[in-house]
Amino acid sequence: MTKTADIIICGAGITGVAAAHSLSKAGIQNILLVDERPPLSFTSDRSTECYRNWWPDPEMLALINHSIDLMEELAEESGNVFHMNRRGYLYVTADESKVTGLKSASRRTSELGAGPLRVHSSDNSSYQPARPEGFHDSPEGADLLLGNELIRKYFPYLTDRAVAALHARRAGWLSAQQLGMYLLETGRRRGARFESARVTGVDVANERVNSVQLSSGERVDSPIFINAAGPFLKNVGKLLGVDLPVHTELHLKAAIKDPLGVVGREAPLLIWNDTQRLPWAEDEREALAEDDETRWLTEIFPAGAHTRPEGAGDDILMLWEYQTKVMEPVDPPPLDEQYPEIALRGLAAMLPRMEGYFAKMPRPQLDGGYYTKTRENRPLVGPMGVEGAYVIGAVSGYGIMSACGVADLLTAYVIHAKLPSYAEDFALSRYSDPAYQRKLESWGDSGQL
Ligand SMILES: Cc1cc2nc3c(=O)[nH]c(=O)nc-3n(C[C@H](O)[C@H](O)[C@H](O)COP(=O)(O)OP(=O)(O)OC[C@H]3O[C@@H](n4cnc5c(N)ncnc54)[C@H](O)[C@@H]3O)c2cc1C
Repeated sequence: MTKTADIIICGAGITGVAAAHSLSKAGIQNILLVDERPPLSFTSDRSTECYRNWWPDPEMLALINHSIDLMEELAEESGNVFHMNRRGYLYVTADESKVTGLKSASRRTSELGAGPLRVHSSDNSSYQPARPEGFHDSPEGADLLLGNELIRKYFPYLTDRAVAALHARRAGWLSAQQLGMYLLETGRRRGARFESARVTGVDVANERVNSVQLSSGERVDSPIFINAAGPFLKNVGKLLGVDLPVHTELHLKAAIKDPLGVVGREAPLLIWNDTQRLPWAEDEREALAEDDETRWLTEIFPAGAHTRPEGAGDDILMLWEYQTKVMEPVDPPPLDEQYPEIALRGLAAMLPRMEGYFAKMPRPQLDGGYYTKTRENRPLVGPMGVEGAYVIGAVSGYGIMSACGVADLLTAYVIHAKLPSYAEDFALSRYSDPAYQRKLESWGDSGQL
């Protein structure tokens, strides 16, 4: 028997459930969400669950600011069931030569709309530490703390080498599962349905979407098809003959217990902003350097090791993209058993008491997923080139924080509402613009962790 839907969404990760929520809020009732896995169980289950409005790209900044507005509304209406906090992101450097650049880059981001920048250089400054829970009455913008004494007054666990710390304030973390479940359940109450199946085909008739084939053998008639397939965005695009310009990168994450209390339990997300060599004992370094396979462990590693406390116990999360691995998505993602130790040693540059775990590291829990990215790390949201087909994805390492914002943008396309100023910057059609192509050639850093 052929079923019908007003809209079919392929993928029930955070992006698909946010789309179902937003479209149902706009009054569309017969929405069918299809996923071959349980909702929110693939990439959306692997994230660090953090958010920040601190973006150097003005269009991304506007999108994520709006997304945070929407998340705050959801937190208000739900009694903050997803535990959104505002602890912020703290970018720390020990490199005096970077301070002027950090200050001017921060001023630029502030002027783009991320909120005021306050620079503090003495301990009687007006710096306001973050509250550990909730998001109300928190400062906007960012605080730049200069000088080790001031930094360690508020963050005593950081290295005595730290000379500057930028605290982005409209930032923090939340439970992505609980946000996702809230979006899914609210959408369901408004009529959206979930079906467990793989989308195997999309039929086009008279140059527009007509129906969708499922692995169950069913065909569902629908005039609108939304590709929210996360790392499989490209594969699902091909079902419509569209080659989406995205690639996938493997990203890992490790969790360990922190019985020594190396990371303050009320800490923000802590990010080490400097390159480094990993700390090894002299004999270890010599042995590693001798072997072609391990020499890389003695060479320079990139900036960006980061950590945060997780939950009410003594868990911490550790992340560091010291190698970029572009690959086709496979399930489960391949894990690298060396990752936790490398991340832990890298974090010791910022948190010296990590050394206490060098001899015996608490047993790590390792997982990972994929960043699905466009070349310039902006998302893809909008029409997919076939009448009735839309894409929402390529949300890289910011898919949790952007979900409500990209879903709102998608809904504006579907219901023909006024589009926000950044719509064109995230549309697939941007790549047909020669001026945009030229801009891509000299694209700057996206600030992606
Ligand atoms: C280690 C790591 C840390 C991260 N940290 C953060 C962070 O701190 N903050 C943040 O905002 N983001 C973070 N992210 C990114 C974020 O997790 C992702 O951007 C987001 O989860 C992507 O959601 P999605 O819905 O697009 O994809 P997914 O969650 O992967 O969902 C896609 C769904 O589509 C389904 N699907 C695919 N093809 C088909 C088909 N043919 N038929 C049916 N179903 C199909 C899949 O089964 C899957 O369930 C992180 C990611 C990783 C890996």
